[in-house]
Amino acid sequence: MRIAIGGIEHETNTYARGLTPLADFAVRRGEQLLRTAGQESDLGGAVDACLALGIEAVPLLHAWAQPSGTVQREAYDALADEFIDRLLDAGTVDGLVLLLHGAGVVDGIPDLEADFVARIRRAVGDDLPVVATFDLHGNVTQRLADMLQGMFACHHYPHVDMHERSCEAVNLIVDMCERNRKSRCDVVNVPMLIPTTTTFGGPGAEMLEKVLAAESDADVVDVSWFHGFPYTDVPHVGSMIAVTSFDDGGALLAARVADELWASRDSFHPESLSAEQAVQRAQSLKRDGTDGPVVINETSDNCGGGSPGDGTHLLRAMLDADLGERAVFGFIVDADTVARSIAAGVGASLDVSLGGRTDDLHGEPIHARAEVRSISDGKLVMTHMFRGTPLHLGPMVRLDIGGMQVIVASRRSQTFDAEPFLAVGVDVRRYDFVALKSSNHFRAGFADIAGAIVTADTPGLCTLQVRVFDRQSTARRLWPAHADARFG
Ligand SMILES: [Zn+2]
Repeated sequence: MRIAIGGIEHETNTYARGLTPLADFAVRRGEQLLRTAGQESDLGGAVDACLALGIEAVPLLHAWAQPSGTVQREAYDALADEFIDRLLDAGTVDGLVLLLHGAGVVDGIPDLEADFVARIRRAVGDDLPVVATFDLHGNVTQRLADMLQGMFACHHYPHVDMHERSCEAVNLIVDMCERNRKSRCDVVNVPMLIPTTTTFGGPGAEMLEKVLAAESDADVVDVSWFHGFPYTDVPHVGSMIAVTSFDDGGALLAARVADELWASRDSFHPESLSAEQAVQRAQSLKRDGTDGPVVINETSDNCGGGSPGDGTHLLRAMLDADLGERAVFGFIVDADTVARSIAAGVGASLDVSLGGRTDDLHGEPIHARAEVRSISDGKLVMTHMFRGTPLHLGPMVRLDIGGMQVIVASRRSQTFDAEPFLAVGVDVRRYDFVALKSSNHFRAGFADIAGAIVTADTPGLCTLQVRVFDRQSTARRLWPAHADARFG
């Protein structure tokens, strides 16, 4: 048996400035895909599943870019064309596992994934089994579902189960081939804008439990809950339930679970703390005897949702609170400050204008005197979510500003685990306050470290206040932006 593997993945924040060019994509071709074996990623999972089952994996092309603005049309066309050329050149395959995100938007194409699969279908016809994996932050449509035999979104946020979901996708193709049958997909879109919500507790965990319970029917292959991606202006934005099944009951089941999601909507109202409120909360938690560091996550400037990562709101509030040697901030993105600091050298002091370079929303640059404490090449390997996967942050420095340790990286990324701190010589366990930019993925890496977690929702492109975004692409009434939103 031969199963083709590949995909184009992008989480598009249409509110982010500028278009995403081809140069921003990390593209793996052919054999390069197979080198992800053993990595806790969607691609690694598909490769590992084929290895485990003795199936020939036929690697095509895999493209991924850091979440950012709308994808340039020429970039997408080039990637999609090359993908299809490689698929057509691959000879006979028994199925295709597509690694997708679900929230891709191309200039002039509001649904990247549906357009991509439509191009594939035009090239290879309707008979080839095609099963796709997704990030649960996808905004997926029935148009897409109609072209697929299986849809597997990760269940968890942090996305710790992408590897496992890709294995399920490979297994479904094997099942379809061996038993000569075909599954189908049904999607129900619920008009809800869900702010970034973890499944490691609270309402996210409660809803996930209902979703997993719905998978018990013998003919049901999978029930996926797409939280959706609210930071994008497309007609089909929302939250979705997708059912993969071997009978006609999938649509009914999806509708039933969607009803449960809608009924639980009021539990998804998040608490939104300003930077100052978050710092005060962290200080009072520490005063009350919290054991271990209080982690403050600046959810609203999460590169993993398309924001710039150079926002200064939380860092400024921490400096103003004079937390000094008790605090570390890891990290803010500012390649220019990194370059100047490296030129000055370890032990040197310099005046910096730190962060706040991308736009006004995420805050003004911080002007301060800083001492360069250490330098790193920023070449890391992730330890929790995406375990074993390389993460290249570009050159990094640790600055001392008023006693507080401030880590600066050259390339955009959210903070997933403690590795960016270790790279510049910081053991986070020795600090009372550890600040970082991430919405929920960091929870996998800091579960055993944090004494408490406080979320700061400063002005930013990934704010929990999803109602503030202007929506030109849809006239639909969407909870919680519209109190009169209706479903069913
Ligand atoms: Zn996601």
